[in-house]
Amino acid sequence: MKILIVEDEKALADSILTYLEQEGNICEAALDFQTASEKISLYRYDCLIIDLTLPGGNGLTLINELKATESEAGVIIISAKDSTDDKIIGLDIGADDYLTKPFHLSELNARIKSLMRRRSFSGKREIIIDEIRIIPDLFQVFVNNSEVVLTKKEYDLLMYFLTNKNRVLTKESIAEHLWGDDIDMADSYDFIYTHIKNLRRKIMETGGSDYIETIYKMGYKFKAS
Ligand code: CA
Repeated sequence: MKILIVEDEKALADSILTYLEQEGNICEAALDFQTASEKISLYRYDCLIIDLTLPGGNGLTLINELKATESEAGVIIISAKDSTDDKIIGLDIGADDYLTKPFHLSELNARIKSLMRRRSFSGKREIIIDEIRIIPDLFQVFVNNSEVVLTKKEYDLLMYFLTNKNRVLTKESIAEHLWGDDIDMADSYDFIYTHIKNLRRKIMETGGSDYIETIYKMGYKFKAS
């Protein structure tokens, strides 16, 4: 999952970033309003963690900007201000959750997981697509009840496909999703090809269907009902 952390206290931003990366996410941090605003307009994230008081502007404005891009990203506000007004405004303009500082990183992580479960898979702890069954909290994948052992990138790729079933995903969007926006795109295309080939092979070797279709000159599509 790709996460943007908007927080001007550098030490806090760093510790959130380190923690969430250890949990297997791709994270970026923006330490001021302007940087965050640019990233929101240029890149897509699955989830944003947004502080409200920032140098250069207010986190609520960022949420409005994000919503104007018709983003489907989840938003969690983190704020030192335990103000009911801010909380109500934030939730009103589209934030999904609100956490008052100081908080435990494990609490933030649990909120992110439950938020993404609610948003992507209607709150289910298991995702079932034909013969594939996934338990996101444990990063486990089963095909016909046999576990398929995937690498982190293959797993991320599978989840990205599942949240975008039957849609063509361009190589650019896959690269950005798997590596964040500071990778060299040209290099990453070979890696994407390899990961997709391996994912497809692992699913089929365990008796699964061939779900991943190559769309000539465009990208890939995960075909499922
Ligand atoms: Ca702040």
